[in-house]
Amino acid sequence: MAIRKTYVVTGGGGFIGSHLCERFLERGHHVIAIDNFLTGNEKNLAPFKKNSAFKLIRHNVSKPIRVPGRVDYVLHFASPASPLDYLQFPIQTLKVGALGTHNALGLAKEKKAVFFLASTSEVYGDPLLHPQVEEYWGNVNPVGPRGVYDEAKRFAEALTMAYHRTHKMDTKIIRIFNTYGPQMRLHDGRAIPEFLSQALTGKSLTVFGDGKQTRSLCYISDLVDGIEKLLLSPVNEPVNVGNPNEISIRDLAKKIIRMTGSTSRIVNKPLPVDDPKVRQPDITRARKYLSWTPKVGLDEGLKYTIEYFKEALRK
Ligand code: UDP
Repeated sequence: MAIRKTYVVTGGGGFIGSHLCERFLERGHHVIAIDNFLTGNEKNLAPFKKNSAFKLIRHNVSKPIRVPGRVDYVLHFASPASPLDYLQFPIQTLKVGALGTHNALGLAKEKKAVFFLASTSEVYGDPLLHPQVEEYWGNVNPVGPRGVYDEAKRFAEALTMAYHRTHKMDTKIIRIFNTYGPQMRLHDGRAIPEFLSQALTGKSLTVFGDGKQTRSLCYISDLVDGIEKLLLSPVNEPVNVGNPNEISIRDLAKKIIRMTGSTSRIVNKPLPVDDPKVRQPDITRARKYLSWTPKVGLDEGLKYTIEYFKEALRK
């Protein structure tokens, strides 16, 4: 039998965090989720509350983190991650990326644990190189409204590498590209949850700008597989994880209308400041180092997500 390990997941109540808790519990490990539920959803953790291998600590990780006992892995996933959320909580976003990362690294150092940072394709900003490879340094406006997230994550990456180099810690950095699936908040403001909620309630789908901007969309189970593989690998450099299947936002809206059988229309709203025009991960590194490639196509992933949204909207 595999040895039981203890995983700390900051942001454990969030969309990705709660899927990670589920995966590690399924594998028979102990999980400690830390969340202050600023943008996370406590309901995501309800299925684990009775599991004695699961513990929830209600805490803002921008303040020092104390966890009793042995810890093997610290995964830092706490942060507002939807543009709507980080525009609403700009200072909390900067603090959790900077102070929260410092505290999570400090916990990992004290416990001699592996540290795992949830970084983002936003470190590439509005990219001038397409698709984006990990060697690309990005095109970020530090003083724009999105800068609070982008720069916090860029600082978090720099701090993680400094701890790796200075303290010889085993650290991992994943750059997550747009991911979707069950457990997203119905109104978190991101394109897929917004379009699904709108299509399923007969409201117009709000496409920002002309909708020609592109994103590449990864289903949550593929992302979780990639996280697990990177965590258990010897790789310390950043690794892109996402699905290279690129689609324009207008086509995405049309697809969602079609797949939900909705009679909703599309309306255009102003494009947010510094909204990236294109985004697609180059996943050569993930393929080579982790033998990881995404398995779930957009139609299949959307089908599962539509089921979840239909159910969640009924409640
Ligand atoms: N978007 C949109 N309508 C919405 C929400 C988002 O057209 O109701 C657009 C947004 O401007 C961006 C893309 O969809 O170009 C993806 O946005 P999202 O918030 O999902 O994530 P981002 O990739 O920008 O972080």
